Amino acid sequence: MSNESLHYIALFATFANNIYQKTYMNQEGKHLLHLFGYCPKCGAKAFAEDTEKSKRCEACGFTYFMNPSASTVAVIVDERDRLLVVRRSKEPAKGTLDLPGGFCDCYETGEEGVRREVTEETGLSVTESQYLFSLPNMYRYSGLDIPTLDLFFLCKVASTEGAKAMDDAGEVLWLPWQKVKAEDFGLKSISLGVSRLIEKFASAKANGR
Ligand SMILES: [Zn+2]
Repeated sequence: MSNESLHYIALFATFANNIYQKTYMNQEGKHLLHLFGYCPKCGAKAFAEDTEKSKRCEACGFTYFMNPSASTVAVIVDERDRLLVVRRSKEPAKGTLDLPGGFCDCYETGEEGVRREVTEETGLSVTESQYLFSLPNMYRYSGLDIPTLDLFFLCKVASTEGAKAMDDAGEVLWLPWQKVKAEDFGLKSISLGVSRLIEKFASAKANGR
């Protein structure tokens, strides 16, 4: 890895640390697991807040930790230097722009997950994926805040022809980099990731790479 890449990653890590409020409380100021009313092991109601990220059963002693779920994000750029974006058809952030991707299944690698999600949402086939960076997010699903760790991959596809919106994607668009705006992406981690990608691709272009 070049010194330039290392410098970029170091800067990025600092930036990412600064924009996240590192609180485990949800949007309403409640414990992250407040909707978990019963012990998932023995079913007792004596399932009490333990640490800020865990609840402990007073009946059987079981402790449940809210750890982040792995999720993937695909960065796909075509031969005309346009980024593949989708419009979210579901909450959270319904109607805003997004990058293809989603939660990893159990026993799936990030590479397998990103390939599956790209096919499910756009119909395109990923032939190669290169890990770029990760960003944490808090994903509200049916009123429950699910912490995620979003893994960004630069993906190559067999063909950029025939992308169509499916599954969670309401629309598929190829956007030239000059039209890609971080604020159009409704999910925080995606918006932040896109702002870094704009820098990366703009500087690569400026340097003739
Ligand atoms: Zn229990």
